[in-house]
Amino acid sequence: MKIGFIGLGIMGSRMARNLQKAGYDLKVYNRTKEKAKELLENGAKWANSPAEAGKEVDILFTMLENPDVVEKLATGKEGFLSSMAEGSLWIDSSTVNPSFSKRMAEAAKEKNIRFLDAPVSGSKKPAEEAELLFLVGGEPSDFDKAKPLFQKMGKDAVHIGENGKGAAMKIMINQLLGQSMLAFSESLNLGMAMGIDKKMGLDILLKTPVTAPILDVFRYRIENNDYEPNFPLKHLQKDLHLFTETAYELGQPSPLTSAAKEVYGLAKHKNMADMDFAAVFKYLHEKE
Ligand code: NAP
Repeated sequence: MKIGFIGLGIMGSRMARNLQKAGYDLKVYNRTKEKAKELLENGAKWANSPAEAGKEVDILFTMLENPDVVEKLATGKEGFLSSMAEGSLWIDSSTVNPSFSKRMAEAAKEKNIRFLDAPVSGSKKPAEEAELLFLVGGEPSDFDKAKPLFQKMGKDAVHIGENGKGAAMKIMINQLLGQSMLAFSESLNLGMAMGIDKKMGLDILLKTPVTAPILDVFRYRIENNDYEPNFPLKHLQKDLHLFTETAYELGQPSPLTSAAKEVYGLAKHKNMADMDFAAVFKYLHEKE
């Protein structure tokens, strides 16, 4: 089976490497070729364009920054939908909005190309250790075909429903992630302003059942002022935007997410776009 992989950033490079370690033949494309170095040294073939990456592969993965980038590489100049064979399968693991996934499924269908939205839960370390959770939307038969590959990159893959449902589940998760980090940061920051010792505040808050368990993972960042990105803040803000955009499309209110999105947006303006999203604590805390 021949696999194409487009998008070798923090997540994609590690996911592709796990497929390679499992013995799959890979053809890879990334805007910045340098990031493909390790994969190429280990036998992957380089594609000079998205179209070349999609040519003569059975399955093509994309792991790209946002919907605009996915669309550009799929349908733009030298886009891969122009070169993929009829009956082949495109799996988009980028975090995008459900209506966008449905639109991409339609664009693929027009060319008799199969499509799954398969975003992942889990960050840099789970990507490296093949511990991701795939949330999948599309035809069950396509899911079954892709499952062995998901299992090489993740601990599990769940078929959520038709196209768009994987994307839907993913933005629900990241809405909670962004809100939890922000609410926690706001609470700890005020605690410190009230004279609560930072370590004490972290110890107690992280032990209470009202704190999301995932936040324990970010403790070292707040303690050491270490915001080297695993999950860049600009991506989290994008995900909150996708959530509010979807809420608007469906006529649903999303007041808290709209507010949270703006806080992350303000942090971006303080040069925190490429820091880990936990830097929202730094944003609230620092007075300049
Ligand atoms: P990343 O390191 O920033 O990688 C982004 C990828 O998109 C890179 O391959 C980048 O190419 C490409 N790209 C960006 N703009 C482009 C453009 N204009 N034209 C062509 N290619 C472009 O991000 P990541 O953390 O791997 O995330 C990738 C996706 O997974 C995002 O949708 C993100 O929300 C989602 N995700 C991330 C995490 C996480 O913890 N990091 C977890 C789950 C899901 P270059 O290498 O040339 O910049």
